[in-house]
Amino acid sequence: MLSGVFRLHGLVVASHPWEVIVGTIALTICLVSMNSLVTSDQICSWSHGCPKLQERILTSDVFILTVTRCMAIVYIYIQFQNLRQLGSKYILGIAGLFTVFSSFVFSTVVIHFLGRELTGLNEALPFFLLLIDLSKACALAKFALSSNSQEEVRENISEGMAILGPTFTLDALVECLVIGVGTMSGVQQLEMMCCFGCMSVLANYFVFMTFFPACVSLVLELSRENREGRPIWQLSHFAHVLAEEEDKKPNPVTQRVKIIMSLGLVLVHAHSRLASEQSGQNRTEEGSSSVLPFSGARAQRMEHDYEFWYFPLSSMDREQVITLGLALLLAVKYIFFEATETELSWSLKRPITSPVPVYTTKTRGTEDLCQRETQPSNSPPKANGNANFNPVTISGPKPELDSNTVLKEQRDEVIRPQVVDPVGGDVSPLSPVSATTADPLPPLPDPPSPLRSMDQCLSILRNPELGASFLNNSEVMELVRSRNILSYNLEAAMETPERGVAIRREMLSSKLPSLSALDCLPYKNYDYTKVMGTCCENIIGYIPVPVGVAGPLLLNGKQFHVPLATTEGCLVASTNRGCRVIALSGGCSSRVLAVGMTRGPVVRLPSACRAVEVKAWLESAEGFRTIKDAFDNTSRFARLEKLLVGLAGRNLYIRFQSQTGDAMGMNMLTKGTEQALSQLQLHFPELQVLAVSGNYCTDKKPSAVNWILGRGKSAVCEVTVPARVVREVLKTSTAALVELNINKNLVGSAMAGSIGGFNAHAANIVAAIYIACGQDPAQTVGSSNCITMMEQVGAGGEDLYISCTMPSIELGTVGGGTNLAPQQACLQMLGVQGASLTGPGDNAGQLASVVCATVLAGELSLMAALAAGHLVQSHMTHNRSKVNLSEMVPSTSDKAS
Ligand code: NAP
Repeated sequence: MLSGVFRLHGLVVASHPWEVIVGTIALTICLVSMNSLVTSDQICSWSHGCPKLQERILTSDVFILTVTRCMAIVYIYIQFQNLRQLGSKYILGIAGLFTVFSSFVFSTVVIHFLGRELTGLNEALPFFLLLIDLSKACALAKFALSSNSQEEVRENISEGMAILGPTFTLDALVECLVIGVGTMSGVQQLEMMCCFGCMSVLANYFVFMTFFPACVSLVLELSRENREGRPIWQLSHFAHVLAEEEDKKPNPVTQRVKIIMSLGLVLVHAHSRLASEQSGQNRTEEGSSSVLPFSGARAQRMEHDYEFWYFPLSSMDREQVITLGLALLLAVKYIFFEATETELSWSLKRPITSPVPVYTTKTRGTEDLCQRETQPSNSPPKANGNANFNPVTISGPKPELDSNTVLKEQRDEVIRPQVVDPVGGDVSPLSPVSATTADPLPPLPDPPSPLRSMDQCLSILRNPELGASFLNNSEVMELVRSRNILSYNLEAAMETPERGVAIRREMLSSKLPSLSALDCLPYKNYDYTKVMGTCCENIIGYIPVPVGVAGPLLLNGKQFHVPLATTEGCLVASTNRGCRVIALSGGCSSRVLAVGMTRGPVVRLPSACRAVEVKAWLESAEGFRTIKDAFDNTSRFARLEKLLVGLAGRNLYIRFQSQTGDAMGMNMLTKGTEQALSQLQLHFPELQVLAVSGNYCTDKKPSAVNWILGRGKSAVCEVTVPARVVREVLKTSTAALVELNINKNLVGSAMAGSIGGFNAHAANIVAAIYIACGQDPAQTVGSSNCITMMEQVGAGGEDLYISCTMPSIELGTVGGGTNLAPQQACLQMLGVQGASLTGPGDNAGQLASVVCATVLAGELSLMAALAAGHLVQSHMTHNRSKVNLSEMVPSTSDKAS
């Protein structure tokens, strides 16, 4: 409600800036002129020491006043610096100054109207200045500066008002009440100053709520290059200022404390007013002139004025000289020195990106590699609208980097490539990059107006306070071409991995047959931190694969909804039908019968005889124990269980088999195997390790060893399907299915010389689950080893008994792709994500059971479709690209599912 009022107020002020500004200025002028009428009569002149007050000032007071004045001056100086960080040296600064001035004038006049005489303003002024908080101006300005259009400016100012207005109001209230305590002190001068302070706070509040937002709104409108574009001076370096300001959001706890404090102070004020009214009455009775007896001796003051004008220098005591000196010093520094520093620092600090830069193919030497030309791009007009985006060669002055000794030193510590980039290494340092890369980069900051050389870019990159975010994409690409940033390291080198990916895509696009080749390959909004160093390198995006669900799958009395990532139409529908058959049959049962991931290195001995001796040692209890100790030391979960040693001449093939907990375990096995081989070499120094993998594992290749001995998880699943379900759902007969299974899955595969391929399409289901659940898809090769068996059972042999045996399901629920969020979601669907709480390996075992049972569902459905002759029809419906079909095939989806 309160926010709504402030929002409305902000909108009105921002929408009618002229009216508000003119009104405020008119009011201020009005007050000034009214004030001047009475100043000579009642108020001590500016900088004229009130004789009365001066008489009272002791040496210690002089010291305190000097310190306070200096503090006030430094404070104002810092506030101005902060304002300037927002990009406007003058406009906001002047607005800030105006608020100070108008607050002062307003307060003076109001106090005058209250019938008080002001004396000793020069003493009060420093305290007053300390009350002015220009950071409020920054806070409000930041809302306006984040806008892209004038409409947005208004909206943002009103939004800023809605957020900041209540805080401002509360702050002003608290300040008034706190300072107001001083008005009850009984010390006349202090009471006067506090009274003045309260007025100042109120005036300040008034100006901030009216003049300042109107001023900002107007300034942004006037400085806008065109109605659509951003203001000329609104550069993206505001972003980091604004980000810093983010931290200054009002703390609700502080707000609450302020409210409570205010209430307390209101009570104190009320109590004290009651008391003072009583004493006032007494004083009136005694003939006192006023509650605040500031009416001074006018003659005395005039005498002092006379002295001031005629002896200005003599009246300037030491404290005034110090204060004046400091003020002059800071003013000179601010006006003459910081302008250049600021320009330089912004040219360095600005996080900048040209819309679409074009690299010239001219050889310019290392110094000039980062210099570039810009041209209008396909980027939105927002970017082109910027004055810095003119399609001309930028030839602005280089920032005087050499004057910055820090940066100069850092130039010598240039990042050097440590290894040759294996993939992105063929980037020519001077190869031209087209300006028309189809996929726009993420909205990054604007380009710098000054050109920056390679050394400057490197200095910025190496500077911990600046970094890659202060380089534009063109500069980063040059650094990649010159191998100062390694292509494969782009994600890590940039401030966000996504920017690294975007830049790699842009660099790649120009080398592809079509510039728009990557247009439809998404890359945004992806958590690359989980991928980097674990799952993928040289990332250019990610492939969205449709994920379907099959189920419920009734397995071991529990229901599972199985995620299947596939682009093969029919697969999910078919598997779903299999799941329905299983459910109608009362569910399937599955068991994991063996667990053990393998790694099979090849080692060489000097002779076959020596190889036999090593084999014998490995197969001995002592040898196995020695190797196992070394192996098991490498992991909390890897536990060596078996060694299978094959011999070919003087080569030994050692198949390490180990438990791997919930991990698939290939990295684990590799690590353990390496350690074990080192141990083996200690016993047999002449043993030479040819490769940590000698294909005896066997990983990702068809092999009899996995089929026979198993690898990963070995699982079996079975179900008996009643004749009625076979008939009504599978639309076939048990006899037909059994016969087909013999002739296709058994004899047919034998005829083909298949190893482990005694099934209809186990790989379909394995691959779909693996992709969905973050498994290594290449391990579909071994994991889809499966023999499907069918029998006629039950009365009359009409029921169908079906089993699937899969000896080498290589999967896990921790490690690898299972760490990625979408894949974890699929694992969570099955309740097996991450490490098992019941015991290491339980989750992985459960997943293996699900895979085996889903394969069984798929086998049932596909075999039935084949037996019933539905396969072609259903594929024509579900699996053919409609785009390429001239005639649509009548739907037979009911048959397929
Ligand atoms: P990994 O992520 O390399 O290792 C699993 C990690 O999880 C280990 O650090 C393990 O701890 C920890 N962990 C925590 N809780 C666990 C639990 N309950 N059970 C098991 N481990 C647990 O995963 P990996 O399965 O060994 O390797 C999978 C990756 O290897 C995949 O990305 C795959 O694509 C890739 N791969 C590698 C090869 C190869 O030749 N290296 C071959 C094929 C595939 P500890 O540190 O105590 O063990």
